[in-house]
Formats: sequence, C-alpha cells, structure tokens
Amino acid sequence: MKAVHPLLAELRARAKAAAQGTEARLDALSEREAALEALRIVRKAGLVAYTVPERDGGAHAGGLCTPETVSARALCALRDELAWQHGLLDLMLVEQGLGSFPVALGGTPELRAELLPAVASGERIAAFALTEPDAGSNLSDITTRATRTKHGWRLDGTKTFITNAGIAHFYTVLARTRGEPGEEGLSMFCVNADAKGLSVSPFEVLAPHPIGEVRFDAVEVQERALLGREHEGTALALATLARFRTGVAAAANGFARRALDESMAHLSRRKQFGRPLATFQALRFDVAEMDVRLRAGQLLVDEAAELVDEGGRASAAVARAKLFATENASWICDRAVQHFGGLGVKRGTVVERLFRDTRALRIYEGTSEIQRLVLARELFGGRG
Ligand SMILES: Cc1cc2nc3c(=O)[nH]c(=O)nc-3n(C[C@H](O)[C@H](O)[C@H](O)COP(=O)(O)OP(=O)(O)OC[C@H]3O[C@@H](n4cnc5c(N)ncnc54)[C@H](O)[C@@H]3O)c2cc1C
Repeated sequence: MKAVHPLLAELRARAKAAAQGTEARLDALSEREAALEALRIVRKAGLVAYTVPERDGGAHAGGLCTPETVSARALCALRDELAWQHGLLDLMLVEQGLGSFPVALGGTPELRAELLPAVASGERIAAFALTEPDAGSNLSDITTRATRTKHGWRLDGTKTFITNAGIAHFYTVLARTRGEPGEEGLSMFCVNADAKGLSVSPFEVLAPHPIGEVRFDAVEVQERALLGREHEGTALALATLARFRTGVAAAANGFARRALDESMAHLSRRKQFGRPLATFQALRFDVAEMDVRLRAGQLLVDEAAELVDEGGRASAAVARAKLFATENASWICDRAVQHFGGLGVKRGTVVERLFRDTRALRIYEGTSEIQRLVLARELFGGRG
C-alpha cells in the first residue's frame, strides 16, 4: 500500500481534533447559526486556508499542487474527516473554495488580493451561483443576462439552489453575455452580496443549511467583476467543478464511514432473541458488504484526487469516484438505518442525519446521470 503523504495525515488529525465534540452543539443551533458556528470551527483550526491557492493567501499544500491552485487530495482528506463528524463542517469548509475559486482563476490581481485572503481566513463567505429555475444539468440554458454599461455590467436574472445564499458576502455568477439559451456565450462575474438590486429568498432542504434563490434586478457591477475573458465563463465554471468535484465523493465516504462505525457499535450492543444482533449472519454479511463498498469508494477518490493534483486527464476518474462514492454512501447509510430499526428513523439519531446528509450528494455538482454521461463519453473516446 502507498504511504500517506505527511500533510494528508496531519490534515486528517487536525480536522478530527477540531470537529470532535461539536456535533451536539451544531445540532442545537438554528440553521443559520449552525452554519456560522461550523465555519467558525473550521476557520479557527486554520483549515479553510486549504480551500484557497497559496499564491492568494491560502495554505501551503506541501507540494501536492502548484501555488496557483488548491490540492484536491488535501480537500478530500479534510472533507472525509469533517463529514464523518458533521455535514455542516464539511459544507462550510468547501463552499469557501467552490465559491471563490473562479476569482482565483480569473480575477484581477487587485480583486484576488482584496477577496481571497479574507476567504482563506473565513472572514468573507463565498457562494457559487450557476443553477437557475430552468437551467440545472444543462448550463447552456442559462438566461441570467449581463449587459455592458458605461462603467461595467448590469445583471438581471434568478439563480436557485445557491448554498450560502443569505450569509455569503459575494457570489460568483455565471451569466449570459451573448446569444440565446441553448448556445455558448456565458461569462463569470463576482458580485457583492450588498449590491443594490440583489435579493435572497431562502428555502429549506432535506439536510438543513443556508440555501435559497438569489435574484438580480438591474444589479450594477464594475468592469473588474468580470472573471476571466468575456464569453469564456463556462470554462471557468467547469474548471472549478473539475477541481472540487472529487471532494463530494470524499465527503460521501466520510458519511459512509461514520454510518459503518455506528452500525457496528449498535449491532454489537443491541440484543434480540437473546443474543447481540452482531452475531446474526445476515447482518454480518451486510457489514462486510458495507466495508468492501466503502473501501472501493476510498480507492476511487484517491485515484481521482491524485490525477487532479498532478494535472493528468482526470475526468473519467473523477466521474467514477463521484458516481460510485455518492450512490454507495446512500446505500451504506440506508443499511445503517435498517440496522438501527425504529431508532434509525428517529430524529436525533446519527444515522437518521447521515441518511438525509448523503442524499443531495447524488444531485449537486453534476448528478449521477451526468457522471454516467461523462464517463461513457470518455470511454468512447470523447464521442457522444
Ligand atoms: C442541496 C443542494 C445544494 C446545491 N447548491 C448549489 C450551489 O451552491 N450552486 C449552484 O449553482 N447549484 C447548486 N445546486 C443545484 C444543483 O447543482 C442542481 O440541482 C443539479 O445540477 C441538477 O440540476 P436540476 O436540479 O435543475 O435538475 P435537472 O437538470 O432538471 O435534472 C433532473 C433529473 O434529470 C436528469 N437528467 C438531466 N439531464 C439528463 C440527461 N441528459 N440524461 C439523463 N438524465 C438527465 C438529472 O440527472 C436529474 O436526475 C444545489 C442543489 C442541491 C440539491
């Protein structure tokens, strides 16, 4: 077996230490307060700095990647450990990177200097805004418009399912600068949350966290808000997703690992028919299957994250890891719920929370169906 890079072992230990004992506190808070507390926990431990390139005030990633980017392996190590403890710790860490990476890729040196060190320290909260009511899996259907003005740009449109909506200090937004829906011609912008004409309508999802709709009504931004080149925003959005997507699979593995730990403890403790549940072969087989699937998910994540860090052709490996680990985590958490019997669906039980936490992973940052399409295209040599 390959030796673990010392930084990855260190990051896992730091994440574990920071997260330990925070679960009950986070569960007792309101959605918004819990999210802010989760961010406070990960920023205090210095972990948020790994979501921002070293060049822009982020942490040194021990040579795992160049200073202009963030290490997928470091993110995966952190996400796996944080998700084991609580989904919000994982989410609040990674959104800092996902929301700000387009600025690292395409922002002017001044904009990067203004925003990114504050993201790395957790003082400014980022959000990533692609999805619209009529544009989800297919980004080319985006209708949010950015129109040139005398001093910059004006944005009009609606984004939805935006994590951190309402608590973010800025949004990186994909908007149409040319053509009609169904065509290319999108550009990426960085928009301050306090811009006139920007409004947020929060809503609730299965695993509570700040999320909602973000409306842009004649929102004016300066020229420097354009990230990268005009009409080349799709490439920026896809490059961001390519760097961060393996982390979704790592979080799935963290949830699944926790579910397996919870199951084994419960099966060993709980007695029925005069003996511990752990002595029944049907349940022992389940545990064995959970373990094998978890290990497979971990190996796929390791392979994908290494390829991403080394700059190789990673899209097939990333699609495989995201598809398998997220689908698998739902299956493992479902088995854990079954092992707990009625307690498995009782609010407040860890496996009940894990069951809810894992579900959206199969939907965001590219659904399972989209991962299958990507993988099949790679397998057929880029055709289809
Ligand atoms: C909890 C949560 C957090 C999110 N956070 C963010 C965020 O911060 N920022 C952001 O921009 N977005 C975010 N999203 C949105 C997410 O990225 C989209 O939900 C996702 O891309 C799917 O888009 P959709 O919901 O419009 O589904 P649709 O694209 O309408 O798809 C519906 C179903 O059809 C399937 N489908 C679509 N096209 C095909 C095809 N060609 N072949 C086969 N099947 C297909 C899909 O896989 C899916 O099962 C979040 C979503 C959730 C649930």
